[in-house]
Amino acid sequence: MPLDQPLLFKRIPTPPWGDFADRKYIGYDDYVKQDGYAALDQALEQEPKDIIETVKAAELRGRGGAGFPAGMKWSFLPPLDDGPRYLCINADESEPATFKDQILIQYDPHSVIEGIALCMLACQLDTAYFYIRGEYHHHRDAFEKAIQEAYDNNVFGPNSRMGKINGREPRLFLHRGAGAYICGEETGLIESLEGKRGWPRIKPPFPAVAGAFARPTIINNVETLANVPYIVLNGADWWKSHGKGRPEGAPPQVPASFGTKLIGISGSVNRPGVYEDHLGVKLTDVIEQYGQGAISGRPTKAYFHGGISMGVVSQEEAEQGVELDFDIGKKWANLGLGTACITVIPEDVSMVAMARNCAHFYSHESCGQCTHCREGSKWLYKLLSRIEAGDGEMKDLDLLLELAASMGSMPGNNICGLSDGANWAIRTIVNKFWSEFEAKVSKSRQVSLAVVGT
Ligand code: SF4
Repeated sequence: MPLDQPLLFKRIPTPPWGDFADRKYIGYDDYVKQDGYAALDQALEQEPKDIIETVKAAELRGRGGAGFPAGMKWSFLPPLDDGPRYLCINADESEPATFKDQILIQYDPHSVIEGIALCMLACQLDTAYFYIRGEYHHHRDAFEKAIQEAYDNNVFGPNSRMGKINGREPRLFLHRGAGAYICGEETGLIESLEGKRGWPRIKPPFPAVAGAFARPTIINNVETLANVPYIVLNGADWWKSHGKGRPEGAPPQVPASFGTKLIGISGSVNRPGVYEDHLGVKLTDVIEQYGQGAISGRPTKAYFHGGISMGVVSQEEAEQGVELDFDIGKKWANLGLGTACITVIPEDVSMVAMARNCAHFYSHESCGQCTHCREGSKWLYKLLSRIEAGDGEMKDLDLLLELAASMGSMPGNNICGLSDGANWAIRTIVNKFWSEFEAKVSKSRQVSLAVVGT
């Protein structure tokens, strides 16, 4: 069922509801005219724990990639004490081909700021840091302007309408990242925020207990927080009327896919962009309805459906009905939904070259703390470069898969999920497009035999 009207994009029209050209910065006054900050005003009448309960009941799952339930994360905080408590907003958005949050940041920043304020109120967090990707220059300018407007209108600051939180005036700061993929990992982000090298931390302790500056900290993605005002204003049941929900017959403890999702489309497609639809929408429908099909009717071979770290979906699988929900991994041998930003890969692109490019990315971005990740990603890149150059052998393919599997999250292997993403991206490409890899190495074998024969 297509989305009747957008939620997150209700103020920033996007096809099919409007035109990209209609997008403009929505300042504080325009935001307020369109129900803006109504959820915050309503929440001021509520107990903080009731706001958490509403978000928990809505089963809002994180939109940054991992899909962890936001309300549950909020409830992990320890009881209040005299010290400060922080909210870090993850706007690093550096997963390849992922550009969904930037639309909210640039055009409707107050929807994110209202979500931030609601989270601070619910969790009693006095200071928020908006950690934005270093390359997002225009978005940073827009968001800084919106922060100033929020201070001017007493959302934050000494006269905040939220009063004092935990004895302190609520404050929101913008912090720029410096372009490292690993700073999108929550503890890498915290280290970077603290002015250190962005090295992910060993957990426990988890950030809710000891995060930024060793104090209790919640970390949420931009899109996740932008959903919170709608949930607070309209209730959990209303929210749960959107999306796919729980798999049929599954008990209540099985995670569900409620709500809408921002979906990015790029690659070989006629109308790339960011769109919004129910979770559970078919991948092929997204490409046809929003993306208006592949460029020049060029046949499609595969898709990265959630950045690159969630692996690849073949066109045959897509035609069998791949749906964009948090359970995508269970049926299609992928890791999960990820960022729901799709890259369309045309038939004439070599999947061997694609795998090599992915391996190059991970080997470049590995922070180097863990041996399996640091060495494994470099060896993946070396092996794939050799195969792509036509110098590979059949046994290299087995070695490639063995090496990739060894990078997985066995207990104690790795500190963060980068290594998992790397091995999963490569393994799904090799397994699902085995014949291309096989052809590449048998071709190189024919060439070397011919050389021997001459
Ligand atoms: Fe760094 Fe990789 Fe270890 Fe993550 S898994 S901490 S990126 S070396």
